[in-house]
Amino acid sequence: MSRWAYVNGRYVPHATARTHVEDRGMQFSDGVYEVIAVVGGALVDATLHFERLDRSLSALEIAAPMRRAPLEAVLREVARRNRVSEGIVYLQVNRGVAPRNHAFPRDARPSMVVTARRGQPASSPALVEGVRVITIPDIRWRRRDIKSVSLLANVLAKQAAAQDGAFEAWQVDEDGMVTEGSQSNAWMVEADGAVVTRPPSHDILTGITRTRLIDLARQDGITVIERAFTPQEAARAREAFLTSTSSFVVPVVQIDDAVVANGRPGAVTERLRALYLDFVARQAITILHTALAKA
Ligand code: PMP
Repeated sequence: MSRWAYVNGRYVPHATARTHVEDRGMQFSDGVYEVIAVVGGALVDATLHFERLDRSLSALEIAAPMRRAPLEAVLREVARRNRVSEGIVYLQVNRGVAPRNHAFPRDARPSMVVTARRGQPASSPALVEGVRVITIPDIRWRRRDIKSVSLLANVLAKQAAAQDGAFEAWQVDEDGMVTEGSQSNAWMVEADGAVVTRPPSHDILTGITRTRLIDLARQDGITVIERAFTPQEAARAREAFLTSTSSFVVPVVQIDDAVVANGRPGAVTERLRALYLDFVARQAITILHTALAKA
């Protein structure tokens, strides 16, 4: 099957999709990105992703490459051309092509690239059974709320996890508190069933899955507390889990060498996972119905 990408206004074969050598995304990681899940052909929580994209772009003073409706149309078209009904779309916007100088170029136009990939990681058996995470010092910069393409520390963290046979690395700040994973948010469950995750700030990326899950949990009567926790507290907790666009809600059953509870996914995590899967399916059906009504 041929794959397609979108590069600066054109749909091009994935194999020959190219950007310029002086693209600032490549030279300075001077850009931002979003990864949006595709379920039943629909983009999951597109509005929340576009709002975060706008926050990232304005933090870096990069102009939006296009308005929201045409942007969404491009993402849907890339998913369609790649026959991705379950998977993800990737969007990168960076400051554009200009002679290499650190300061912002005066007249560069933002570059925009979109790709899509099939996959249903949320249902893979290994993730459903629960994963192990390692802990690692958080060596990143102080604006982790910006979804920057500058991911070197995250790459090193994930590689450390991979080398240790773990699924994810939980990064730990100078005060000994977990910030987040290399590509996911970190959670634990207190003895009374209250769910804990770090509050939004410059210290973490406010995950869209995190935001949605807090809402779903509260609607279901589950208490959510936004506070930082240590890896030791999470290891002694009733349950632990992580969330992300690419893997939804994943039980964490081991942190470094410490087994969490009985080493199996807990009831609260299972409930949250079911709530999230149900939400995603319902949203996909609503989007489909709305599209059919318009057609
Ligand atoms: N933290 C980091 C550092 C991430 O890279 C991601 C994945 N983009 C997340 C958290 C989870 O965010 P989301 O739920 O929006 O995928």
